[in-house]
Amino acid sequence: MGDRGTGRGRGKEQATRPKQPRGRAAAKSKDDPARGKTEATGRPRRPSSPKKEPQRTAVQKKEPGEPKAAIANTITRKKKDKEPPLPDHRNLKPVVESLKLKMKEISPAADKVNTIVRIIISEVSQRDPIFQGMEKMSTGSYYEKLKISRPNEFDIMLNIPISDYGRIALKEFGTSGAFYTLSCKRDMPEFMEDFIDKDENISAKKILTRFRKLVSEVVSGMPVSIKRRNSSSPALTLIIENKPSNIDVDLVIALEIRQSWPVKTIDGMNIDCWLGKKVKRDFKFQPFYMVPKQFKDGNTVKDTWRISFSHIEKEILTNHGSSKTCCEGDGEKCCRKICLKLLKHLLELLKNNGKQRKKLEKFCSYHAKTALLHQCVEHPKDEEWRWEDLDLCFIRYIHYFQSSLKHEYLPNFFIPSHNLFSLDDVDCKLLYDQIDEQIKHGFPLFDL
Ligand SMILES: [Zn+2]
Repeated sequence: MGDRGTGRGRGKEQATRPKQPRGRAAAKSKDDPARGKTEATGRPRRPSSPKKEPQRTAVQKKEPGEPKAAIANTITRKKKDKEPPLPDHRNLKPVVESLKLKMKEISPAADKVNTIVRIIISEVSQRDPIFQGMEKMSTGSYYEKLKISRPNEFDIMLNIPISDYGRIALKEFGTSGAFYTLSCKRDMPEFMEDFIDKDENISAKKILTRFRKLVSEVVSGMPVSIKRRNSSSPALTLIIENKPSNIDVDLVIALEIRQSWPVKTIDGMNIDCWLGKKVKRDFKFQPFYMVPKQFKDGNTVKDTWRISFSHIEKEILTNHGSSKTCCEGDGEKCCRKICLKLLKHLLELLKNNGKQRKKLEKFCSYHAKTALLHQCVEHPKDEEWRWEDLDLCFIRYIHYFQSSLKHEYLPNFFIPSHNLFSLDDVDCKLLYDQIDEQIKHGFPLFDL
């Protein structure tokens, strides 16, 4: 399943209203278990009793400008750190070590994939002007160094710079702000006419059909085949012959659009207190991307595009500290990315546990990533994510994720009007309960 939510398993996606309280108010509601986990300094705090419901006490707002107090608190706390481990939290560091090994296992497969994709790009971009300038984007879990599961499945986004063809007009589809139809406003080059549908829109379907044809020409004679077309999938899946098992590669085309971000992004990406206003402004000067994604609403299926900011997600995850040196050679090490890895790992383990894969299928690593970004906004300082505090930070993060499940509301980080849980068939309650079980018993799944 795609880390960007573009890949397999994310069939129906709709733009529906959240079913429960919305917006910042919902995220900060008194019911939100994560709210009780933070002291005034923002440092994670041990739950007083594992048996209790997550704490719901009102919490004093963090004071972002108090690094000295935070450091003082850190030192005092270090001395007090002799408390016995709590049953609902466990030492997660060995789990992290085992995940590092998994990353290493993946790298030979990744080399193979990269070689083949390089050939495809170089050939396809010469064979049709629409694919001219196509490049592999270094987004997705492998390139974010977060790939930990399914070593034989890769998602790769291929950037097609179409902005040079005159301004692209976006027309929102539905109300979420995530789905659009696209059309050329002016100076459309002649070759684009092949990819325009009867409503004058740029057709994802037509572009994908041409792409598929060219790729199949390129890979003929290579130990690579193409998976049969699936009308609801936005990707073309390559199957690369490999021992002991073949490698699946989802290629997702992404139209690069260099113009102002759509209006519905205005209230998103609240990183001012975390990464700073300047970083945010710089991001907003970057292009955005559109990936093919059918819009389904009841019986209506429309050939639409879904907006993607996976390049920004990658940049944020790479430079994730409130200080510039976070996780660099001589800087302090934090646990933000490790927390994300662990939750991704837990979701995979839950899906594979028993017969619930089908019911949990629609939950994907993109939900975990989005939840982490929201948590980083809520806890913007590096001191709130110290590597030493991994176990507590993870619990705080997972409680936040549970709270999102409880309210069936997880807003897209860039477009808050888009609720990522607004799918008909996501069983938030089931996942909530499953995670609860894991927390209560100290994550036994991590021992398997
Ligand atoms: Zn860090």
